[in-house]
Amino acid sequence: MKDMIYLDNAATTRPCEAAIAAARRAMTEEWGNPSSVYSAGNEARRALERDRETVRGAFGAGAKDGRVIFTASGTEANNTAIIGAVTAKARNRGGRVLTTDSEHPSVARAVDRLEALGYEVVRVPTAGGAIDMAALAQAATDRVIFASFMTANNETGALYDVAAAVRAVRAASPKAIVHTDAVQAFLKCDISPKKTGVDMISVSAHKVNAPKGSGALWVRESVITAKSLSPYIVGGGQESGMRSGTENTAGIAAFAAAVAEGAAHFDERRAALDELREYAIGELGRVVPEARVNQPKKAVAGIISVTLPDIRSETALNFLSGRGIFVSAGSACSARSGKASGVLVAFGLSEREADQTIRVSLGHENTREDIDAFAAALAEGVASLQRTKR
Ligand code: PLP
Repeated sequence: MKDMIYLDNAATTRPCEAAIAAARRAMTEEWGNPSSVYSAGNEARRALERDRETVRGAFGAGAKDGRVIFTASGTEANNTAIIGAVTAKARNRGGRVLTTDSEHPSVARAVDRLEALGYEVVRVPTAGGAIDMAALAQAATDRVIFASFMTANNETGALYDVAAAVRAVRAASPKAIVHTDAVQAFLKCDISPKKTGVDMISVSAHKVNAPKGSGALWVRESVITAKSLSPYIVGGGQESGMRSGTENTAGIAAFAAAVAEGAAHFDERRAALDELREYAIGELGRVVPEARVNQPKKAVAGIISVTLPDIRSETALNFLSGRGIFVSAGSACSARSGKASGVLVAFGLSEREADQTIRVSLGHENTREDIDAFAAALAEGVASLQRTKR
């Protein structure tokens, strides 16, 4: 029996052994400053560039047309992309920015800031877990300077058709820069620049079995040469001048090691996660028939959003956590704010239903036994919580 059943892999993941070993190596052997020009610095630089290549390779087809800028988080990658691209050129001022109504706060709040600065923001609806293409076609005019559409939603698992959204934007505004937040999709599905046509892609280390404190932004080379991205953090000019600050070489080494492992097992992990997701949905329906799975048309491997019958998610979470089973309410980022999730409302749930929704997110370490234990505990919890209400 495991001491805990961790079903919150969209919040964070356990660092893999390869990541831990790589971080240790970076701290014991390659601990120089990669900007120093003597041998210890050169070694650290070589390791950093090797890690950059590893991470770049995992973006898939077309990744060689761009470079990887390391950041301190997915949040920072998103802020760098959005604020950096929109504010890069004075002529962008007051232009239109497109996004969806269900982005992660690191995109949503960055876009709010642009709106406060006078940019025109249109948030395209995503009811049912898909970008409303008719609304997007209407919003996509030649005034669009920038767009950001997430690849996989962190609360519902919905996979958005980023390629189609990019085509719609470019048809109306060929020079618009398009970004995707692929934090929940990285190493789980094809996020390649060739497939979607985006100019920038954000990812985060701690969602792919590396430690917290590293992220990356893939940027199309033409965006850099056209000076269409200005740095969000300025200083010593590290990371092609796009993100100053001495690189977190241990975190990056761990990130690259986890990425190499994830990329090597991509197909088998995805197949296993898809299978486990189907199994979990089947078991939930069988054991807790009153629960409703919020199924998007297309879902990323591993995330399941479940609305419980008349039970607040917080109560269910406490009950499950008492049995060593960890899931989350909405997304971990908003869980502590006590507010109903705007993302779930955008999906089509009422505020009340959103407040009764939990997120189960699977990782490659999870097994059917984990799902069985979770489903049994949830069934017990639902029965006892409903009894105490009567
Ligand atoms: N984008 C999405 C979709 C996420 O799920 C998260 C984290 O939950 C982030 C961005 C932020 O990433 P980080 O935690 O590395 O800042």
